[in-house]
Amino acid sequence: MSVSRRQFITTAALSSLALGLEAQESKSSGQVKMARKPVLISAANGYNYIDRGYGILSGGGDPLEAGLSVVRGPEDDANDHSVGLGGLPNEEGVVELDSCCMHGPSQRAGAVGGVHDIKNVSLLARAVMEHTGHVMLVGDNATKFGLEIGFARENLLTDASRKMWLLWKEANSDRDWWGPGPDDPRWHAPQEEAPAPQSELWPRRLQKLEQLASRLGIAPELRQEAIRNIFYPPTGTIHCSVLNAKGEMAGTTTTSGLAWKVPGRVGDSPIIGAGCYTDQEVGSAGATGSGEENIKVCGAKTIVENMRHGMNPREAGMDTLRRIAHNYRNDMTRLRYIDMTYYILRKDGAYAGVSLWTGYNPGKPHQFAIHDGSRRLEPTVALFDGYSREWPPMPKGTAY
Ligand code: ASP
Repeated sequence: MSVSRRQFITTAALSSLALGLEAQESKSSGQVKMARKPVLISAANGYNYIDRGYGILSGGGDPLEAGLSVVRGPEDDANDHSVGLGGLPNEEGVVELDSCCMHGPSQRAGAVGGVHDIKNVSLLARAVMEHTGHVMLVGDNATKFGLEIGFARENLLTDASRKMWLLWKEANSDRDWWGPGPDDPRWHAPQEEAPAPQSELWPRRLQKLEQLASRLGIAPELRQEAIRNIFYPPTGTIHCSVLNAKGEMAGTTTTSGLAWKVPGRVGDSPIIGAGCYTDQEVGSAGATGSGEENIKVCGAKTIVENMRHGMNPREAGMDTLRRIAHNYRNDMTRLRYIDMTYYILRKDGAYAGVSLWTGYNPGKPHQFAIHDGSRRLEPTVALFDGYSREWPPMPKGTAY
């Protein structure tokens, strides 16, 4: 479907209103002009930092500068176990980080994958964009490049992350990322592998794990999270898409990737077009969640292309989630082991946060952070009603 510029702007304005947004328009001499206010959308773990991103935009700043100021927050936060310092490590206990960014006004991109010992890989991705003729550097040589241009070497494995890794090594490392994944016909859901009397086994197993966690010195308030993390490697990550008052856009995504991954595994986060994509003429999108699935649908690029062809941000995201489900022929058993959230911002300021499932933790729906003059968290719109990877993993109706 081809859409004229006039049609696009009209559709954009209508869908902004449909989404309850305040896209500001002024009409002069028959032309629709957007009087833009800056907008930032990010994963929920960016909530504490989008004020400073907005501050940069209010001062007329560059959209990538603003986005990086947001995602650096969780990178620097040792208590965020999905990004930067304190991120959960690979199966060998090494924290490997991935990141990418796109700068709309210059339509440039930078990315790094499998970096160790450097905390702010989002800034390193920008450095690849600014100081090389390449888009992506990976592994030891990406780390070496970072150290050479002045990034500090740091041990990223905090005491808390190391102890969670030890818990996984000792209690569950036989369930690693080797062997068939959920998209392989040989894969079976854990319940199918152990149909035995789980109702009796799980409470006892969880109790033993609590004891082991305590022996390993995991703080009481982290034990539940640690135990869940060893069964269901968590998704986290942060993405931020930005629109400034001049209409300039940018996007950035940064992560420690999936916990306990096979060394060298790179997910969607540093892949331009999967974990992040920005097109100055259309919009910007990014992802957190099951990276392998997102790579297969080129999520962020698909969303931006959908918007280019006239879909509003929510439709563009939902269509992409449906492609993930379609790849599994809508097999809900397998899809429960997958989760995905997209953060979408169109050039006119219309936005949406969409997810495959309502949430990851029962009672805690997925949210995203948004700042368009006021900072808030909003729930995502989910394709499937319910929670991925139920916890504890017991058949429905079983008392815990
Ligand atoms: N998408 C990230 C990856 O697959 C993980 C995440 O979002 O937590 O590496």
